[in-house]
Amino acid sequence: MSKSPVRAQAKGAERVVDRRDSAVGEQAPGGGKRAAEKAASSKLAVGQTRTALVRRARRINRELAEVYPYAHPELDFENPFQLLVATVLSAQTTDLRVNQTTPALFAKYPGPEDLAAANPEEVEEILRPCGFFRAKTRSVMGLSKALVEDYGGEVPGRLEELVKLPGVGRKTAFVVLGNAFGRPGITVDTHFQRLVRRWQWTEQTDPDKIEAEVGALFPKKEWTDLSHHVIWHGRRICHARKPACGACPIAPLCPAYGEGETDPEKARKLLKYEKGGFPGQRLKPPQAYLDAGGRPAPPLGAA
Ligand code: SF4
Repeated sequence: MSKSPVRAQAKGAERVVDRRDSAVGEQAPGGGKRAAEKAASSKLAVGQTRTALVRRARRINRELAEVYPYAHPELDFENPFQLLVATVLSAQTTDLRVNQTTPALFAKYPGPEDLAAANPEEVEEILRPCGFFRAKTRSVMGLSKALVEDYGGEVPGRLEELVKLPGVGRKTAFVVLGNAFGRPGITVDTHFQRLVRRWQWTEQTDPDKIEAEVGALFPKKEWTDLSHHVIWHGRRICHARKPACGACPIAPLCPAYGEGETDPEKARKLLKYEKGGFPGQRLKPPQAYLDAGGRPAPPLGAA
């Protein structure tokens, strides 16, 4: 799965508590016994120094970069306007469902002027598959109107301006800044919140505080890719209810190893998207994803 095997556990923890007794003797992620033994003997860092925390966090990010070298935003978009609208639509639904819905929306309303002047009932009908379609229609038409009236029909490329648009919070703004404008941003979605707490990078529960604490562990230029790596891992392997610990390439670095399925065979069956041999979320994924064996998602109604 990873280009290189995960190396030994993070160094520098001052005090450690073993939480992995139950995993001793089980097989490794990907079937290797050695990696399983490493995971089993790995330690939970308690009271670790700041330096140790930074080292461990950066190491996990490096490993994830090898596991997901093709990581990218999982919303289909061709310009900042499309990404902004798609991100707003992605609340309370999957990126897949948004990607299956937006081709019809953008074919009929290619720019903010078109969407701002649309008949709301017609927009609602297109957005129905995304759920909360009436509220989402109000949001995307409202932000389109604001783009036309206040920004000349262009999506602004600054955080302070983006968060002033109706329905746009910091999470949406950072997705747009990071992926449409190349400006570093941390996306604290549900996966990001869950994983960084499992890894003990922070104990915060407030998204803004998580963003600040995790951001301080990494150079700013890494924030966007870090967000992709963490979110991709949460979607494919480190699930909310049943993380696939026995198939996890960063198990030796993870203080939460054992929270999920540790049996390698059973864990492998929990893997999703390209890691489980299934289609991804984008109908038009980047070439690097296809080159790595990833498959495009089916259009609406095909699956
Ligand atoms: S899947 Fe298990 S071992 Fe891997 S990061 Fe999640 S909790 Fe840790």
